[in-house]
Amino acid sequence: MKDDFAFDMSDISPIIFKPDYYNSYPSFVNRSNGISHFHLKTSIMSCSTCSYHEGDYTLPLNNMHASFMIVGETPYDVHFETEHGQILSHIIRQLHVDLDHIYLTSIKKSVEAVDPCHKHLSSEVIVIQPKMIVALGYGPANSLSDQIDFPGQGKTLINGSDFVVTHSLEDIIHEPSKYEELFQHMQMAFNQWQFRLQQQRSDYNYSRV
Ligand SMILES: [Zn+2]
Repeated sequence: MKDDFAFDMSDISPIIFKPDYYNSYPSFVNRSNGISHFHLKTSIMSCSTCSYHEGDYTLPLNNMHASFMIVGETPYDVHFETEHGQILSHIIRQLHVDLDHIYLTSIKKSVEAVDPCHKHLSSEVIVIQPKMIVALGYGPANSLSDQIDFPGQGKTLINGSDFVVTHSLEDIIHEPSKYEELFQHMQMAFNQWQFRLQQQRSDYNYSRV
């Protein structure tokens, strides 16, 4: 079971907010943890590791009610006007996914950030509780779990989020022949996401009988 942990639950320091709720209440890793979307956003914006305000591309940090999360290396991956972002936006349009249902983020919250901020990536997963997370490349995948080996692999994290790793967009630029695989992985993630939404609706209807 521990193998599926999204992050090491025995070491709660990486997921501490200020004030450090998680220090005193590690059980706060569920949806009703009391951390608001606003709190998460301001916490990222004021984080020195995230360096959110540096550089040309900043993350939108909106759609925090979305249930489909895409994690890139830097904001450059998920800004649709960039070379990388255009690949992503093309796939999203082909899959007919409404952008309002997608939360876009990256392990480095600015292109200039020196290191990924693991604390805030964990926090985003905990607060947003996406049904599906797509990691664009090994870097983002590895930031979420040590149990990811190859593109196309799917897992379910301990918090219940399904998780698919695919190629980085940088890989696609260098090796365009991988695009087809990237598309297939995204389609797999999309289908699984639809399945989870359907499952949720069924559970809801059942609970009302
Ligand atoms: Zn941070």
